[in-house]
Amino acid sequence: MLILTNVMEHLVLETVEEIFSSENARDACHCERCRLDIAAIVLNSLPPAYVVTFEGEVKKRSYALVIQYKADIVREITKAMQTVATRVHHDRDNG
Ligand SMILES: [Zn+2]
Repeated sequence: MLILTNVMEHLVLETVEEIFSSENARDACHCERCRLDIAAIVLNSLPPAYVVTFEGEVKKRSYALVIQYKADIVREITKAMQTVATRVHHDRDNG
């Protein structure tokens, strides 16, 4: 099935997961709310990259973007993590 999708969104979500499973996110709140807030901030600051592709080929379509944008994505995520960390938008005990 053909789908319309923003491959930037896939890349950003993937990279957020990568960073959160590394030592770099040791001090960050790991709840779903904070991770998605970070992804939203990053996606608003990077250009969208919509493609029409087959459902199973999203990964393949995102490879070119990784090369072009990986450094920007990592930098924007690092910035967004600081922004989110300064907000009190949820109770840390129950997400
Ligand atoms: Zn949180």
